[in-house]
Amino acid sequence: MKPGDTLVVEARELDALLGALRERGHTLLGPTVRDGAIVLAEIGGAADLPAGWSDEQEGGRYRLQRRDDAAFFGYAVGPHSWKRYLHPPALVRWRARRNERGFVAEPDTAPPPRYAFVGVRPCDLAAILVQDRVFLGGPFVDPAYRSRRESAFLLAVSCGSPAGTCFCTSMGTGPKAGPGFDLALTELMGDGRHDLVVEVGTERGAEVAASVPHRPAEARDLYAARAVLAAAEGTMDHSLDTDGLKEILYRHYEDPRWDEVAKRCLACANCTMVCPTCFCATVEDETDLVGTATERRRIWDSCFSQEFSYIHGGSVRTSGGARYRQWITHKLATWHDQFGVSGCVGCGRCITWCPVGIDITAEARAVRQGEAQGSRP
Ligand code: SF4
Ligand code: SF4
Repeated sequence: MKPGDTLVVEARELDALLGALRERGHTLLGPTVRDGAIVLAEIGGAADLPAGWSDEQEGGRYRLQRRDDAAFFGYAVGPHSWKRYLHPPALVRWRARRNERGFVAEPDTAPPPRYAFVGVRPCDLAAILVQDRVFLGGPFVDPAYRSRRESAFLLAVSCGSPAGTCFCTSMGTGPKAGPGFDLALTELMGDGRHDLVVEVGTERGAEVAASVPHRPAEARDLYAARAVLAAAEGTMDHSLDTDGLKEILYRHYEDPRWDEVAKRCLACANCTMVCPTCFCATVEDETDLVGTATERRRIWDSCFSQEFSYIHGGSVRTSGGARYRQWITHKLATWHDQFGVSGCVGCGRCITWCPVGIDITAEARAVRQGEAQGSRP
């Protein structure tokens, strides 16, 4: 078996596939139902996956729903993304302890985690590649990200059940898993079958796939997999017109839309926390009460907080409108100049988890329409 091969594994063998990853020393992380949502957490095997569950999503709304079948992956992305494991929300950078001669720094000697990400959706796969550019692509490589990323096994799943807020098709990131996976599954259900069409992406993916019962994919299997993806595309009614969008946003640093969105935006930062590509962080120091030990942590931050843009004399972005403009312009315009790709992969999380349902596609459309109508510069 080799990269590029496609095979069929019966769905009942999914647990054997996950077991093969566990036997190779990976900690399994995958979707599971918790607190009324499908979140990412450590799982023991296929029994922990949200089989038979789906979700209903729209701006500011998320609900779990029961499916009428036992699909393992019949739902879209939840509030968590894989960045919480590659770029953790809080990460100790160093610790120091007082001794008789002063302070001694204590390096973190724990081995890096060796994860297997189970059920990586195409948009999230694209997001990992975006964060690779951020943390690995420039002159300053982030060692914590690199150590986690290098050992992570990516078991992707193409999307058959997009949510109402997904727009991966217009961003070119889904619903079929693109490059970067070790193995990619498409789940086939119905007519008495429950199978996984497995695409092999890497040598180590081939080695894992070869260890479970399988057969080569036939034309009818590939046709069925394509039909799943075509149906998914057909149900995705959200979209973002990216044509010329970067230039439009650059022409609209001043635009009445930013004041209008500021009336609704709570500056809660949910959108940046759930976004799989947002990477901004700050540092905080904590010293114990007796002054003998201290540690420095890197924690997620957000351009929606006033402190984020604080420089000598005060914050640069004091209004909600300025912060929303910063965020959407970075995502859809300046990110291209900075990293060569869009900062948005169309996962829809910022729409679903915005408490007031502010929709990045609607805001971009409003700015575009304002320009088209000639009412704005
Ligand atoms: S900006 Fe919104 S839709 Fe785009 S990747 Fe981030 S969370 Fe997903
Ligand atoms: S756009 Fe929505 S999620 Fe983002 S800060 Fe404003 S209210 Fe919060």
